Amino acid sequence: MGAYGIVEDSHDQSVLDETVSFSKMALFGVLEEEGLRITGRNAVIRWLCGIGLFLTACASVESTPHAASAEASDVLVLTGRVIDGTGAEPIADGIVVVDGESVRCAGPRAACDVPRGARVIDVESGTILPGLIDLHAHVRPHYLSFFLAAGVTSVRDASNNFEMLEGMGRDGPGRARLFWSGPAIDGEGSVLGQTALRVRSADDGRAAVDSLVARGVDVIKLYQQISTEAFHAATRRAREHGLPVATDLGLQVGRGLTVSEVDALEAIEAGVTSIEHASGFALAFRRLGGDPARDPLDAALVDSLARALVAYDVVLVPTLGLTHSFASETPPSIEGVPLASETPPDMIEWWRTMHASLSREARVRAAADYRLAAALVRRVAELGGRIGAGTDTPAGPLVLPGGGLHRELELLVEAGLSPLQAIHAATGEAARTLGRPERGVIAAQKVADLLVVDGDPSVDIHATRRIRHVIKAGRVLSPDSLRAHARASTTAN
Ligand SMILES: [Zn+2]
Repeated sequence: MGAYGIVEDSHDQSVLDETVSFSKMALFGVLEEEGLRITGRNAVIRWLCGIGLFLTACASVESTPHAASAEASDVLVLTGRVIDGTGAEPIADGIVVVDGESVRCAGPRAACDVPRGARVIDVESGTILPGLIDLHAHVRPHYLSFFLAAGVTSVRDASNNFEMLEGMGRDGPGRARLFWSGPAIDGEGSVLGQTALRVRSADDGRAAVDSLVARGVDVIKLYQQISTEAFHAATRRAREHGLPVATDLGLQVGRGLTVSEVDALEAIEAGVTSIEHASGFALAFRRLGGDPARDPLDAALVDSLARALVAYDVVLVPTLGLTHSFASETPPSIEGVPLASETPPDMIEWWRTMHASLSREARVRAAADYRLAAALVRRVAELGGRIGAGTDTPAGPLVLPGGGLHRELELLVEAGLSPLQAIHAATGEAARTLGRPERGVIAAQKVADLLVVDGDPSVDIHATRRIRHVIKAGRVLSPDSLRAHARASTTAN
């Protein structure tokens, strides 16, 4: 969120800005699991790659493209409980047929033929669901690999500089697919350092959007200090270009409500796609005569704000883990969170210091932000509106890259979503928010980004933590090798 100048301002990233390049493992260290989708000579070489031998040969195997359709032996079939990411109830006896990088067929078992010779994985008591999508992160090379290892197959970077983003690239082995906004558009007083384009007038706003479009961004991010006229003009221009617009309008914690002109209602009316952190609602609340810090909140005002989101089809991306971590008296527990044990001690220490430095007053304001965000989540869900899952990692203390999204799902459930609604927020709804309908759901022709977990996350959302397989674009990846790759990438040079 950048309210502390922590994340979006890359000048202040002491620990996180350490330049760490990728290890050579990125070329061939993350391998398909033994016994899956491998045949003949390549099977032997891939197995050897898996135990760290024959590296020259590994490179050649990895560079061999997958036969896109071809033999049945190239087809992967998963059977068992399927949560398809649309928000629908789980299919108890389901099937997913993957051919190359895409899903060929999915549904109840009787709906799809199993090609002879296909490799079949029966997940038994486990669950097949779409790979998760984090709608709000700020990515750096040394934790880029953490997302995929935690089952997060796509990440939307919600403001960063182009040098950083283009250095990482949009995709590669052993890591999540990145979508990005590039620098946020903000007012002239922006605190965002080099990650902001500063604008004053409507013309400036339009020109900033055009320049970002020319750089190939996936979304436009509008930040807290932008003027009302530039906000409207930039939003309209982005939508003319067919791009989604995400906005952070400020919270009670951080710099408070005095720096923003645009509140959430104005942003909704301007036509944004998503409102990040449930920001701008406290300001709208106050402008409507309410007190956003009061406990309990005025339910009628919460209802009217939630109804505005629903009426305009705007996605609420509450990043509950962010304000929750700032509000908590003690640093949040990361026990059992995916990749917690791979997270470098200096990152953990950096977060603990960040948490310890918060004043009591800041915690109280963060708690008020959390309360308002959770109330909106509950009401929007009741009204059938749209909720998206995002973490803002690493802005909140101990909101881990990758693992933080599992925590976010749990907080969405605590706020009142059903586990299926929470999963929808990180899969089908997230893909729709990205403007990428080919992702986030399990159906024919969709990208085969999948997750297999132990247990049933539609009953207990904590099951998403128990990752058995990560499948990216049809490739079954071993969680152990992904974790090893993530660990190595934090220290490689
Ligand atoms: Zn952010």
